[in-house]
Parts: sequence; structure tokens; C-alpha cells
Amino acid sequence: MKYSRTTLVLLLFFVVISESSSALANPETFTQCLTSNSDPKHPISPAVYFAGNGSYSSVLEATIRNLRFNTSNTPKPFLIIAATHETHVQAAVTCGKRHNLQMKIRSGGHDYDGLSYVTYSGKPFFVLDMFNLRSVDVDTASKTAWVQTGAILGEVYYYIWEKSKTLAYPAGVCLTVGVGGHISGGGYGNMMRKYGLAVDNTIDARMVVDVNGKILDRKLMGEDLFWAINGGGGGSYGVVLAYKINLVEVPENVTVFRISRTLEQNVTEIVHRWQQVAPELPDELYIRTIIDVVNGTVSSQKTVRATFIAMFLGDTTTLLSILNWRFPELGLVRSDCTETSWIQSALFWINIQVGSSEKLLLQRIQPVNYLKRKSDYVREPISRTGLESIWKKMIELEIPTMTFSPYGGAMWRISSTATPFPYRAGNLWKIQYAANWREDRLTDRYIELTRELYRFMTPFVSKNPRQSFFNYRDVDLGINSHNGKINSYIEGKHYGKKYFARNFEREKTNEERESASPFLLPLSLLSPIYSSTISAVMAEPSPSSSPQCPPPPPKPYLTSIAPPLPP
Ligand SMILES: Cc1cc2nc3c(=O)[nH]c(=O)nc-3n(C[C@H](O)[C@H](O)[C@H](O)COP(=O)(O)OP(=O)(O)OC[C@H]3O[C@@H](n4cnc5c(N)ncnc54)[C@H](O)[C@@H]3O)c2cc1C
Repeated sequence: MKYSRTTLVLLLFFVVISESSSALANPETFTQCLTSNSDPKHPISPAVYFAGNGSYSSVLEATIRNLRFNTSNTPKPFLIIAATHETHVQAAVTCGKRHNLQMKIRSGGHDYDGLSYVTYSGKPFFVLDMFNLRSVDVDTASKTAWVQTGAILGEVYYYIWEKSKTLAYPAGVCLTVGVGGHISGGGYGNMMRKYGLAVDNTIDARMVVDVNGKILDRKLMGEDLFWAINGGGGGSYGVVLAYKINLVEVPENVTVFRISRTLEQNVTEIVHRWQQVAPELPDELYIRTIIDVVNGTVSSQKTVRATFIAMFLGDTTTLLSILNWRFPELGLVRSDCTETSWIQSALFWINIQVGSSEKLLLQRIQPVNYLKRKSDYVREPISRTGLESIWKKMIELEIPTMTFSPYGGAMWRISSTATPFPYRAGNLWKIQYAANWREDRLTDRYIELTRELYRFMTPFVSKNPRQSFFNYRDVDLGINSHNGKINSYIEGKHYGKKYFARNFEREKTNEERESASPFLLPLSLLSPIYSSTISAVMAEPSPSSSPQCPPPPPKPYLTSIAPPLPP
């Protein structure tokens, strides 16, 4: 049976109950429901973890990637279902509805604002954790793979590499990011200029959208829903079980480099030139730059450093000839470059030495910090004077870093309506603002420093609306109170437009159609776009950080000239 978009979104609303409804959590009756709604051949009870019991804490904490959401004050789920079979997902959805509970869906747990495992509504909630559902089935003949959403990107890359040394998938750099949140939120990496985003290479999906646990593929769900879960936030529509992805071709050897330049080494001129060159380079070449503040050569003086990290789908000689012609200001020389396999380049990008075991891609454990992230898009190059003023501000603030990711290539060729991700032609590069820290007492201050840099950047970035990247979830952009007094669409539009621009209206149409239904629950039940959890988190102090993975350590050596800490 083919579902219309209206029916599908409507069915979704049965999945999770509004936080404003009277939620009651009786773990016993809830687990009875789970047992009676799951297949006895795949018992669900070993997958259920009750708060305070056994391995509950270790399961909950295993994929918390932001320590801001792992404090004694963080609201915790009363139960976690770490599904080991698709029928467990179906049972979770069915019983969540029946017991009037909110369900949070977590795959890799990298949501920057913890929306996959935290709610501040005060109502009981449970987490459906997908990390056990992580198969990666690669078919080299068709150059495709079915990937379950609990897989991490490192697993995806590793299992593709096991089967083929010249196939890959153009997704994120951080290997522990989960497929579920990454693809459903857009997903970019160092091949996006050649092949676009992760969502530009997704061709099918399996998803639970129905209170009866119905599983739909692309054909059954229809093109509108398939479009929506490819960048519009999977959790807004149901539980994505797996994506079918297109694999892309890579050469047997690629070239990577990482070099840094400081103020004393003409960083202003180099970054000024980078802005003009990086989006116009051949599609095979992606050069990101990370800007931070470090100790200068003169003691007690700070300087700005730009670190250029590159991925080139080709050999060193070709790379040098391109850059010596187009970007001589960078001063790249052969000894800066490393020619290696694509899979080794994935390790290089997370600061692991080339030549290390590829099995490191399978590691799920990484250092965890307190984080805050924000994002922006730049549509006009920034003048030298502008850059100098930014450096001055960064030296004053010291802590937040910025990462500039160039667009161009496929990112400009793909239509802005092809997926919910709207920021294609006309965008030169994206900024990620980042702060990482290791002590809870620094949280308010580091968040505020990040916000201050973001405010300072206002004249240099996109406007009306100021654009943001959905995968860099940022509750500062707006919240949805779901208090019944304000229309949730109007509230959601305020920040939904920043993430999705005009594509937000296509999602709105879904809601408008459903709103005619007497069965409807608020759209936001699962949705990061509309979620009431957003408002709750917003009420708490939020922090910030950058896209390096694993995140760089905080900079204790800089705190001496930072503003005084609160007691
Ligand atoms: C260290 C680090 C590095 C990063 N690097 C990159 C990068 O290189 N490129 C990039 O694009 N992004 C990057 N990100 C951002 C990342 O892509 C997003 O945070 C993404 O949403 C994380 O997916 P996840 O499954 O790990 O997160 P989760 O926290 O598990 O989920 C994130 C959101 O997706 C929803 N969701 C998760 N699984 C499902 C599912 N199966 N069905 C429906 N909804 C689901 C959740 O409910 C939540 O709202 C990075 C994040 C971190 C912390």
C-alpha cells in the first residue's frame, strides 16, 4: 500500500505523545507492553535498561558526546531501549504511543544540544537507542550499500574499504558520528565539492512511521516523505532504520596536507586569498581552514593561526601544480603533502598518523568535552580590514575557534530544493564556531564567549535570515514552547527558516495538511525543528565548540589573559 504524505505524517503523530499531554510512566506496564508487542523470537527484555539498574548508566553515557548534558542536573530517561532487532523499534513506537510517553531517538549521540537523549519538560521520557542496529551491507556491483542508522561513519567507511579500495561515501569527517542523525540532518565532509552532501547520495530508506510499527521503504513512503528525511531531520517524521547509499569513486591514492600560518606569516593575506580561491578550485580539492588563537613567538603575546587541512582526490604533483598556480600565497611544498589511500586519509583527518591500523575506524570511544557550536554562511568575501577586525576580536575572546568550509563544485550545481538542505549556489563557505572545555564551572562563560564572536560576525555573514546548518544544532536560534498559546508553526518558523530557508515551507505544508485532522498530535513530538525539548534546553545555559574530531583540548595556556572566571 502506498501512503500519501498526509497519511504518513499523520501516522507519525501517533508515535510520540506531546509533552503537554498527561504523561505517565509506569515502567512495569510499559515493559509488559513492549514484551507483548515484540516477536518472541527476538525477546526485547535484554534490550531494556531501567534507570538505576545494572548497565543503565553506562548505556546512557556511552554515546553522550557533550558533557554539558551529562551532569547530575540533566534529566534522565526512565528507561532505555537499546534495540537489537527492528521489531524492538516497532514495539517502542507502539508502546510509546499507548503509554503516552515521549520517545527520544539516538543513533550516535552527537547532537550538539543533546536533543537525542535529553528533555527538560519535566515529563517522563525514554530513549530508543539504535547503536546495536549497525550493519553495513556493501554491494560493489551496484556501487550501493544498505547502512543501518546505528552504524558510525567509521564503520561505514571501513566496510566499504574492506570490499573496494576505490569506492567511498562522501560524509562527515568525525568517525564516531552516527548515520541516523548525520544523514537525516544533511551530512557534509571533505568530498562535498566533488560529490555533494551525504543526502545527495542517498537513494532509499527503511523507516518506522506508524503507531502499528509499519515499516516503509521509499516506494511505500512516497517521494515527499523520502525527501523530508534526507536532511529535514529524521526524528521529525519517525524512526529511520536504514539508508541505502550510493558509493562514489575515489582514486587508489589521494593527497592530504595540514599546514598552519600565523599573523606573523601573513595569515590575513592568505585567508583573504583562500576565500576567493577555495570555492573555485577543481571539485577534487577541498581545503578547510580552522582559525584559532595561540601563543605568539613573542612571549605573552597571542597570535591568530589558520590551519589549512586539505583533501585532494589525486596525486601530489597535480595538487602542487594547481596550488602553485591558483594559491601561491599558501606556500605549499611537496614535503607538506602525504599521498595515501582514501581510507588512511580518513584517519589523517582526525589527527591519527597515516599508516595506523584501519581498524581504528571502528572505535566508538573518543575523548569527550563540554561543547557549544554555532554556524553561519558567508556569501561575500570579507575584506582584509574585515579579517583584521575579526582577528582582533578573536584575540580578545581567545577561546572560540572558527572553521571555514568552502563550497563551490557540486554544492553549487545541486538545486537548493533537491533536498531540505537549502544552502547551495551563492554560498562561498560555511563557518562553524566552536568552544570546548573540561570543567562545568566554565560553561556559562564559554557559551557567552562563543555567542559574542557570533554576534561580532553579523556584518560578514548571510542575512534575512541568517543561515545555519541543521546538523550543527543550536538552540540559541529559537525555541518552540508548545505551551498552547502560540501557534507552533509560527514559533518553529522563526528558526526553521534559518536551517531550511524556503524549504521550510514544504515541511510546513505537511503540517498544514495534517492540522485538519482530529487525530493530530503536535508536529514537534519527535522534531528537533519544532521540539518542545528545544525550549527546555534553551532555559539552561548552552555552550559552544568546533568541528575537529576528536575535539582539540581546551587551551589552559590562554586562560591567563581571559576575562576573570566567575567564582
Ligand atoms: C565531534 C563531532 C563532529 C561532527 N562532525 C561533523 C561533520 O564532519 N559533518 C557533519 O555534517 N556533521 C558533523 N557533526 C554533526 C553531526 O552530523 C550531527 O550532530 C548529527 O545529527 C549526529 O548524528 P548522531 O546520530 O550521531 O546523533 P544523535 O544525537 O543520535 O541524533 C541527532 C538527531 O537525529 C535524530 N536521530 C538520530 N537517529 C535517528 C533515527 N534513526 N531516526 C530518526 N531520527 C534520528 C535524533 O533524534 C536527534 O534529533 C559532528 C558532530 C560532532 C559532535
